[in-house]
Order: sequence, then structure tokens, then C-alpha cells
Amino acid sequence: MTDAIVIGSGPNGLAAALTLARAGVSVTVLEAQDEIGGGTRTTQPFGDGILVDHCAAFHPMALQSPVLEGLDRYGLQWAWPEIDAAHPLDDGPAALLHRSVAETAAGLGADGRRWRMLFGGPSKSYATFAGDILGPVVHLPRHPLLMGRFGAPTVLPAALLARIFRTEQARALFLGTTAHAMRPLTEVVSSAIGMGILTAGHHDGWPVVVGGTQALTDAMAAALADLGGKIETGVPVTAVSQLPRADAVLLNLAPQSALRLYDDQLPAGTRRAYRRYRYGPAAFKVDFAVQDGVPWRDAAVGRAGTVHLGGGPAEIIANERAVARGRMPEQPFVLLGQQYLADPSRSRGDVHPVYSYAHVPAGFDGDATAAITAQIERFAPGFRERIVDVHVTRPGDFTAGNANYVGGDILTGAKSPAALLLGPRPGRNPYRTGARGVYLCSAAAPPGPGAHGMAGYRAAQLALRDLGLR
Ligand SMILES: Cc1cc2nc3c(=O)[nH]c(=O)nc-3n(C[C@H](O)[C@H](O)[C@H](O)COP(=O)(O)OP(=O)(O)OC[C@H]3O[C@@H](n4cnc5c(N)ncnc54)[C@H](O)[C@@H]3O)c2cc1C
Repeated sequence: MTDAIVIGSGPNGLAAALTLARAGVSVTVLEAQDEIGGGTRTTQPFGDGILVDHCAAFHPMALQSPVLEGLDRYGLQWAWPEIDAAHPLDDGPAALLHRSVAETAAGLGADGRRWRMLFGGPSKSYATFAGDILGPVVHLPRHPLLMGRFGAPTVLPAALLARIFRTEQARALFLGTTAHAMRPLTEVVSSAIGMGILTAGHHDGWPVVVGGTQALTDAMAAALADLGGKIETGVPVTAVSQLPRADAVLLNLAPQSALRLYDDQLPAGTRRAYRRYRYGPAAFKVDFAVQDGVPWRDAAVGRAGTVHLGGGPAEIIANERAVARGRMPEQPFVLLGQQYLADPSRSRGDVHPVYSYAHVPAGFDGDATAAITAQIERFAPGFRERIVDVHVTRPGDFTAGNANYVGGDILTGAKSPAALLLGPRPGRNPYRTGARGVYLCSAAAPPGPGAHGMAGYRAAQLALRDLGLR
């Protein structure tokens, strides 16, 4: 029988293992931590009953992932908030993102027509060309016309593309979503990740996983177990000599860990590329247990799963630039999650989990709790009085709990234009390491971060081809 080892049990590691096991390969997953899941876990830091997503929370890109198909049999269930995302402003109503392009456009006044123009066509055909964007950027597209229509604007800096809109609402909604990439928004191709999220979201919404993102991990693990796959936890792999014999080894690792493990077995080009691989800014996360939820000034924000707290367009652009340059802004960009709106099983009575994290400089070792709290209070006066409990995860805690989050970089690498276009190393296939039978399958490889498992799926498909099993 063909044997494979997967190092790391993040969504990409489990997706790789599942893809191999579905093809009849005998797979063992080795995970450093005592728990599986990496960035797709759910914890209970406030005691029983309040469920908090440790990392990944919203999943607009996951529904078209072939590797997650059929996992409803293992308990995977999606739930949608009434409004996908909201971007409150200091003056005037919040911008609201609905799954429907028409409904979103209707709320954007003078910019409604332009929003429809940018997202109407691509979101309608998203299911057809999703396979083209959930993989390496440089490839022969299966649907060149659809890809061309979607892809043309993505090469622009987000700050420039946002100027097609006239209203502060539309510009902020667009820039708040493109800020998920944690790049300076004046950089070329900085529109790409946000355009992908918005297009996918207008097709599939921004769902959460019922019971917390952990349920996604648990479903993949159960499906793997059914196919005979094994998972060993508490096994940090620090040397190749630790590994049993295998026909293929898939690394759900950051390039620097892959380099540490396989250094002298990698060709010079890969060694150089992995050594030069750049990591991005960090996240500082604060989870709140909140009595009766957040008292938003604009009540519509209280119906949105995701809330972007970054003020107007100029403020978002300036603060993302500052963070990328290593400076901590006074009012950092904050992503806030109200997953309990879609999945009430996460709350304890009237006490709800409110998830938030700020973009902070790489390796930031200060305390952003007050800055995050103030950003929420800015758009929800009275928030502080409702806080029942607080749990903080600093950049250093992210790194300590997952070696892939270098310096607190939750995206496993800076999404610079070169990284987006070429992946972790130049060459025809970004999943190859150049060492025989060894593949990179983490969020450092295309299509990059997210809980869709697509890097794992694609790396496993390549391994199966090399093994003559596809
Ligand atoms: C705060 C935060 C918010 C996020 N929000 C979202 C979101 O809303 N939606 C979304 O789609 N994505 C989100 N993400 C990103 C998403 O979680 C990641 O992109 C995704 O988890 C990456 O998956 P992965 O399988 O590549 O690696 P990871 O999930 O990082 O898992 C890697 C695994 O490998 C293990 N490992 C590392 N080194 C070794 C070793 N030497 N030996 C053995 N095991 C090892 C780690 O312990 C870990 O379990 C968020 C991330 C964070 C942290």
C-alpha cells in the first residue's frame, strides 16, 4: 500500500490527508499541538457554554471547496447571519454587505449601479470559475473569459479601485474587505483578495460553522478516520529522522519550518526562496463575553456577522500602511465577529461571544486591548458597560500555539504582489519543494489563507499524480 505522512493538522493538512485517503493512500497526520485543527479550532475561554473561534470564523471561500463536499454526513453545518458584513462610519448610516448584489447596491445610493457593475456578473458565474481562483494565479484558466472579467480589476491597488465609488459608504465597504489581506492598499494587486472574498460572498454569503469552526476540523477528522487515516497529536516534527518511511510527505508548514526540516535535501532555488519568504503583520485578538451583545449606534450593524471597524477610506488606507511599516496606529483596523447571530448555540443565555482582532505590526509585543475596546466603543457607545469577561490572544500567543504564525502573522506570509503571483517559490508548481516526494501544502501555497483546504487539496492531487494514482 502507498503510505503518506502529513505534518500539521490545519485545514490544509487535513484536506491533504483526506484527498490522499479518498484515493486509497494510507495516511498518518502528525500534529505538534495536543489538539488538531491549527487555525480552525473553537475554544471556551469563558468557561462552559460560550464558544469562541480561535482563528477562522467566516467562510465565504469555503463553499466551493471540493474537499469539503459531503462533510454534512460528519456534522458540518453552515449558518448565515442576516447581513454578511457591516462597516459603520462616524457620520451617516453604516455600509451593509448582503449576499444579494441587488440588496447591497440598493443600500449604497449613488454607488449602487457601480457596485452592481463590479460584482453583478462575476458573482453570478462564480461557481463556474471558482476552481480557477482557488489555486495558483499563474495558470491556464478553464474559463478565460470569466476569469478575465473577474481578474482585470484585481491588478489595481485597492485604494485606486475604490475611487470608482463616490460615496464614503461604498469606498469603506470595499476597502474594509480588501484590508483582510493585511497589505498596504496602495500596492498593486492589493484588490485581489478582497475582490475574491466579495465575489464569493455575493454568491455563497459569509457563513459560520454551526458549533464553531472546530466542527469543520472535527468533520474532516471523522471522514479521515472512516477511511482508515490516523492522526497523532503532541508530535512536533523537528527532524526528518522522526518520520516513518513514506512515499509522500506533505508539509502543512510555513516555508521556514520546511526549510529547517529539509534544508540539505532541497534544491538551492527552493532554499533561497524559502529563506527569503516574507511574513506579514500580526493579529492581536480580544474575545469579549458581552451581556445582550454590542449596543451599535446604527442598529443594522447588530444584524451583521462581520463588522469592519476602521473608519473612513483615508483612515483605513493610512492605518494599513502604518502597520505594514511596523508602526502601531492609535486606531487600528479591527475585524469584529458576531457569529452567535447565525449560530445561537455559541451563547450562554444573554451573554454572547464577541470576537475581535486588530491588525498590528509583526511581532507587536504591546497591549492593544484598550485600542480595540475604544474602536468598538466609538461605534457602539456604552459597549464597555456590557463587558462581562475578556480573553486576550497576543501575536506571541498565536506563534506559541502554531509555528506557522510567524511573528503573529495569521496569514502564513505577506501577500505581496510577488507572493500572490508566484507563491512561495518561483517555478511551475508552487506545491513542489524540489525534494522528491515532498510537497508544501500550507496557506503559504496558493490560493493562500482561509479554511477552505484548497492548498492541501491541490498539493495532494499533485502527489497522487506523481505516485501514478491519478
Ligand atoms: C485570528 C484569525 C482569524 C482568521 N479568520 C479567518 C476567517 O474568518 N476565515 C478564514 O477562512 N480564515 C481565517 N483565518 C485564516 C485561517 O485560519 C488560516 O489561513 C488557515 O488556518 C491556514 O490553514 P493551514 O492548514 O495552512 O495551517 P494552520 O491552520 O496554521 O495549521 C498548521 C498546523 O500545523 C501544525 N504544525 C506546525 N509546525 C509543526 C511541526 N513542526 N510539526 C507538527 N505540526 C506542526 C500547527 O500546530 C497547526 O496545527 C484566520 C486566522 C486567524 C489566526
